[in-house]
Formats: sequence, C-alpha cells, structure tokens
Amino acid sequence: MSGDIHSVAAEPMRDVAVVGLGPSGLVAALALAHIGADVVAVGPPPSTNTSARETRTAALLTSSVDLLKALDVWQALAPRAAPLEAIRIIDASQSLIRAPEIEFRADELGLPAFGYNIANSLLVEALYARAEAVLPAVVAAGVGQVAVDENKATLRLQDGTTLRARLVVAADGRNSICRQCAGIGVTERRYDQTALATSFTHTRPHANVSTELHSEGGSVTTVPLPDPQASSLIWVGPPAEIARLMQLDEEGFVAALAKRLDGLLGTIANAGARAEFKVAGLAADRLAARRTVLVGEAGHILPPIGAQGLNLGLRDAASLADCVAEALGASRDPGGEDVLDAYRRARTLDVMTRTLGVDLLSRSLLTSLPPVQAARSLALHGLKALPPLRRAVMRVGLAPPTELPSLMRSPAG
Ligand SMILES: Cc1cc2nc3c(=O)[nH]c(=O)nc-3n(C[C@H](O)[C@H](O)[C@H](O)COP(=O)(O)OP(=O)(O)OC[C@H]3O[C@@H](n4cnc5c(N)ncnc54)[C@H](O)[C@@H]3O)c2cc1C
Repeated sequence: MSGDIHSVAAEPMRDVAVVGLGPSGLVAALALAHIGADVVAVGPPPSTNTSARETRTAALLTSSVDLLKALDVWQALAPRAAPLEAIRIIDASQSLIRAPEIEFRADELGLPAFGYNIANSLLVEALYARAEAVLPAVVAAGVGQVAVDENKATLRLQDGTTLRARLVVAADGRNSICRQCAGIGVTERRYDQTALATSFTHTRPHANVSTELHSEGGSVTTVPLPDPQASSLIWVGPPAEIARLMQLDEEGFVAALAKRLDGLLGTIANAGARAEFKVAGLAADRLAARRTVLVGEAGHILPPIGAQGLNLGLRDAASLADCVAEALGASRDPGGEDVLDAYRRARTLDVMTRTLGVDLLSRSLLTSLPPVQAARSLALHGLKALPPLRRAVMRVGLAPPTELPSLMRSPAG
C-alpha cells in the first residue's frame, strides 16, 4: 500500500484529514474535533457567489438537529428553519387503483416535529464558519491524490502541497477521488429522472406540512420554509420534462406548478432560482479501506424522496466520531484496521437498508404495473387505517436500525 508521494517534513501529522467541505464533511470535521481529534479539513470553500447559490433545502430529522446542537451550530440556524409537523402523501396518478391520501403526523409519536427544513446554503455557511473558528486547520484546496502506507496517508493537494494524517475521511462527494485512491468500487443505479429544486410563495399557509404528490413518471414535493406562505419544491420527472421546466420563464414555470398543485396551497408566485440534479443511486462496495472511511455521498447516493440522503451522511459523521474517540481514548491509531472495522460494522446496515428502501419506494412510485400499484395502494390503505402500523413506519423513517451515535442522543433522551 505504499505511495510515491513524499511528504513535507514541516507539515504536522494530523489524526484525521477530512476531504470535502460539503455538509457531510464539515459535520464530520466538527464532530471529530469535538471528541478531541487533531483535524485538518480540506476542500474548496463554499461559494460566496449569490447567483450560484444552492437552491436545495435539507429536511433534517431530529437526530441530525441534535447533532448540530451538540456541535453548537444549530442555535444560530434555528430561527431560519421550519418545523416539519406532518407529511402528506397524495396519489395524483391516473391509475385505476389509486392509493388513499395519507398524513403522517409527528404528534402521533409524541414529537413536536419530525425535523426541520433549512436552506442548504445557510447550513453550509454556518458549518464552514464554525469549522474556521474551531478546527486546528482548514485548507482551501482540492485533493489530487492520496497515497497510503503502513503508518499514514499522504494527501497531495491540487496546489502542489501535501498533508499527512492517520485517517482520511472521504467526504468529497459522488466522484470521490479519495474513494478511488482507496481502491473502493461502487454499484450505481440508473433512474432516468431529474430533480428540479426551487422555492415559491403561496397564499394558503403550509401549516408546517410537507406534501408529496405522486403521479406517473415523477413527484412534486413541497416542504415548509420559515415564512408560513413560502415552501421549497422538489419536482422529480423524466429528464426531458424537467429540461422543459428549466427553460420556462418565471411566469411560465409558476403556471406549470400551479397546474400541478391544483390549488393545494392557494395562488402561487415568486418562484426562486431553479437548479436541476440528475437523480442517481450509488452504493460503495465497502465503507472503509486503506486508512480511508467514506462519509456522505462519497459512500451512498439516494433518490431525493423521503429526506434520507444528508441525514444518512450526518449519521456517518456521528458514528465515525464514536469509533475514533474509542481509538484515541485507548491511544490507538485512529486510521488502524480496528477503527475501519468498527466504522464498517456501525454503518453498513443503516446505509444498506436506506439505500434499498428508498430504491424500492422510488421504483414502486414510478411503475405502471397494476400488481405493484395495487400492492402500494393496499399498503397505504393499511397505513391509513391502522395507527400502530403508521407509527411503526414513522419510527423506521426517523431512526436507524442500530443505536444512535453518542452525539445524536439528545440530552433529554
Ligand atoms: C433535489 C435534492 C433534494 C434533497 N433533499 C434532501 C433532504 O431534504 N434531506 C436530506 O437528508 N437529504 C436531501 N438530499 C440529499 C443531500 O442534498 C445530499 O445527501 C448532500 O447534499 C450530500 O452532501 P455531501 O457533503 O455528502 O456531498 P457534497 O455536498 O457533494 O459535498 C462534497 C464536497 O466535496 C468537495 N470535493 C469534491 N472533490 C474534491 C476534491 N478532489 N478535493 C477536495 N474536495 C472535493 C466538493 O467541492 C464539495 O464541497 C437532497 C438531494 C437532492 C438532489
């Protein structure tokens, strides 16, 4: 496993180098610093160009919010986030076997909300500011190559400098260089769909309810924003349909959306900037190898339904903090095989069940096969009629199949 990169002697050996300053990488870096690791975070900083701003929002489940609270990031974000008190699913298809409308309410579980919706740009800006304030080092550069030997990983940056660390956290997204350097392959799933993300205002208040409208070929999901008369939107459909929506002027887009929402939120207006994302599915063959662990989309990508993607990435980050804390507490190598093993054991089941679950859900929503439509409709009838079943499904959606990592356990719980 030896590489041909020669490290610079003056550069300190860090416990961990986190590569990628997206939300998963920044949270991983902060969680690792929180448990006392010597961390360097490296990657291009978030864009400050307001016209190139992220249009996505993230629906963060309460366990993710508890993690951000523990890292002292949530307090400043809370006033700019909207609670998700209920999720409504509507079958707007032309199918003969239409499913009933169903609403999942957080108060059925005794919770004030399932989670909170926040603009990705605000989240990343707050995480980056916190990282600059508390991390030993934040380096604004891309990583070009990683070489690993028995004792360390050496990262060659695109500006020609090098960094050394015992453990590499690959949080460098879907085309992860670090994953490739660790020799980890991936399985990809194709969906032939694109997602459009934007926001809009409406005359009828959203009442903190997110609504998913499913129809042939795609879905439209509205998610509450802090203004009771504003929501974010994810419109998923065939690439040609989304390309056409992207090209419309604001008036044309508002008209197309109004038709699709059919008065659900009253009269709509003020569509924000639109961005499109290819819907993809990706699962890494392993979550760790060669002093490298995969966090966030470097390890798994899910279609954007059910608000699972980033929540899964944040659970990676919090679990990793537990694994590294144990090693450092026992004066063991934080990049050693036992840490990689512990991380794989902690994360594989959660990642696998979410990836398969969201894939199945996504395909069942798209299919025009009558037996599958009938099974889906039957399942939704059951969920509507049986509160205990509904509560069980909500619990599965909220929590991983394994114990929550330490930093995600709320002080009260
Ligand atoms: C339309 C849509 C809506 C979504 N809604 C939700 C939701 O409501 N809830 C939810 O939980 N999830 C949601 N998701 C998923 C969520 O957005 C992603 O899981 C999340 O953004 C991934 O974050 P990440 O940090 O893993 O990756 P990224 O955000 O892709 O970050 C990767 C980072 O690595 C950096 N990088 C890349 N290469 C290098 C390199 N060589 N060296 C250094 N740095 C590098 C990049 O610059 C970037 O900063 C949604 C996704 C989509 C498409």
